[in-house]
Amino acid sequence: MPERLVIIGGDAAGMSAATNARRSRPAADLEIVAFERSDWVSFSACGEPYYVSGDVSPIEALLVRSVEEFAKSSITVHKRHEVIAIDTAARTVTVRDHLGGREFTVGYDHLVYATGASARRLPIEGVDLLGVHEMHVLDDALAVRRLVEQRPRRAVIVGGGFVGVEMAEAFLANGIETTLIAAGDALLAGAFDVEFAARITEAVRGLGVRVETGHRVECLHGEAGRVTSVGCGDRAIPADLVVLAAGTVPNVALARAAGLRIGESGGVWVDDHLRTSVSGVWAAGDCAETTHRLTGLPLNLHLGTIANKQGRIVGLNIGGADEVFPGVLGTAITKCIDLEMARSGLTEAEARDAGFDAVAVTFEATTAAGYWPAARPMWVKAVADRSTRRILGAQILGGATAGKRIDALAMAIWNEMTVDALLNVDLSYTPTLSGVWDPVLTAGRVLQSALGPSATRPR
Ligand SMILES: Cc1cc2nc3c(=O)[nH]c(=O)nc-3n(C[C@H](O)[C@H](O)[C@H](O)COP(=O)(O)OP(=O)(O)OC[C@H]3O[C@@H](n4cnc5c(N)ncnc54)[C@H](O)[C@@H]3O)c2cc1C
Repeated sequence: MPERLVIIGGDAAGMSAATNARRSRPAADLEIVAFERSDWVSFSACGEPYYVSGDVSPIEALLVRSVEEFAKSSITVHKRHEVIAIDTAARTVTVRDHLGGREFTVGYDHLVYATGASARRLPIEGVDLLGVHEMHVLDDALAVRRLVEQRPRRAVIVGGGFVGVEMAEAFLANGIETTLIAAGDALLAGAFDVEFAARITEAVRGLGVRVETGHRVECLHGEAGRVTSVGCGDRAIPADLVVLAAGTVPNVALARAAGLRIGESGGVWVDDHLRTSVSGVWAAGDCAETTHRLTGLPLNLHLGTIANKQGRIVGLNIGGADEVFPGVLGTAITKCIDLEMARSGLTEAEARDAGFDAVAVTFEATTAAGYWPAARPMWVKAVADRSTRRILGAQILGGATAGKRIDALAMAIWNEMTVDALLNVDLSYTPTLSGVWDPVLTAGRVLQSALGPSATRPR
C-alpha cells in the first residue's frame, strides 16, 4: 500500500510540495491528493494587478498548471473541496465537497497545511456595496477588471502596501483618477524606513496618484446599493470603484482548532524542516511562520517567493530528504508605472530594534551612465553593522531597472558580506545599463566612508 500525502490548499506552497514530493516518490509509493476550496488551482495572485490593468489576458494566463496537468503526474486535485477539520490523532481530514454537497473523511500519512492568507476584512460599513472589492484571489481580479471595463471615473484604493501600489498602476493605466489611502504616514511604511517611505510616497504622487496618508477609512457610502464615496473623518472621497487592500492575515483557524501550535508571528509554528508541532503535519507558505535570517526572530510574511521555496522543501522532505529552510530576508519589490521600489534585510529602524549598532547611508545614483539619455535617477539606502561591518539591509527607489539591483544586495546580505568586500565585487558595466560604479558597489563605498577604513583585509 502506498502512503498518502494530503495537501490542504492548491496554490504556490501546496502544489510545490506536491510536485516535489512526486519527483522524489513515484505513485506506487506515495498517493498525493490536494484539496482546494476555490475554483482555482496553482495560480499567480502576483499577476492579478496586470490582469486588472489589461496587460495580461485572459485570466487563464495566470494559471501555472491545471488539474489535468497535475493528474499526468499522478497528483489528484479536487477543486471546490474545503478541508473543514483535521483529526491529528486519527490522521484524517474532513472535507466538504462544495460541488457535490457532501462531506467525507480521508486518512493521511503526511499532511501539508498550505492554506495561505486572506485579505484583512475591514470592520466598516459599506464593504458589501457594489463596486467594492478586495484584491486577493483571481475572482477579485475578475470582478475588478469587469468594473474597469465599465470605465469608472474615480477609483479609491484602501491600503498603501505593495498590492495598493500595484493597483494604482492598473487604474492609472486605464485613465482612472486614482486615490490611494494609507493608514500610516507613508506608502509601504512597514517595509521601508520612514523617510525613505516618504520619498516613495512623493514619487508615487508624482505619477499622478492622489495619495492620502494617515487616514483611517471609517465607512463606505453608497446610493442605490452602489459605492459613491469613501468616508475618512469628516471627508468623503468620491469613488466609483473601491479596492480594499488593507493587508492579509494567515489562515490558521483550522490549524488552531486541530491543536497545531501557532507561533508568535501568528503563522503556524514550524521547525527548520517545516514540520509543525504535530507529527506527520507540515506547513508552508503564507500560513506558516518563518525566521528572519539576521535577527533569528519569527515572522509571518506573505510572499510568493517564500511560499514556493517552503513548498519545495516540504515536498523534498516528505520524499525523504533532509532539507532545512534557511530563513528569509524579506526581500520584496514592486513597481508603479516606471517607478521601482525594493527592499531586503533590515531597515535602519529594524536593525536598531534588533540591537545592531546600525550605520545607514542614503545616496542618489542613476540607473545607467549619467550621460545616457535613458538613465533615470535612483536612490539607495543601505544599512550596515558598525562592529562587524556587515551589510544588513538595503532599500531602493528609482526608474526602470533600478529595483532588481536589490537582488545583488540581497546576495551580499545573505552571504554576510562586509561593506569592504561588497565594494570590490567584480560586477558588470556598460554605460547604457549602469554607471562604472554600479549603485550596488556604491552602497559598499558609501557605507565604508561612513564606517571609516577597515582594520582588516576584506574577505
Ligand atoms: C494581488 C497580489 C499580488 C501579489 N504580488 C506578489 C509579488 O509580486 N511577489 C510576491 O512574492 N508575492 C506576491 N503576492 C503574494 C503571493 O501571491 C502569496 O504569497 C502566495 O500566493 C502564497 O502562496 P500560498 O500557497 O502560501 O497561499 P495562497 O496562494 O493563498 O494559497 C492557499 C490556498 O489554500 C486554499 N485554502 C485555504 N483554506 C483551505 C481549506 N480549508 N481547504 C481547502 N483549501 C483551502 C485557498 O483557497 C488558496 O487557494 C501577491 C499577492 C496578491 C494577492
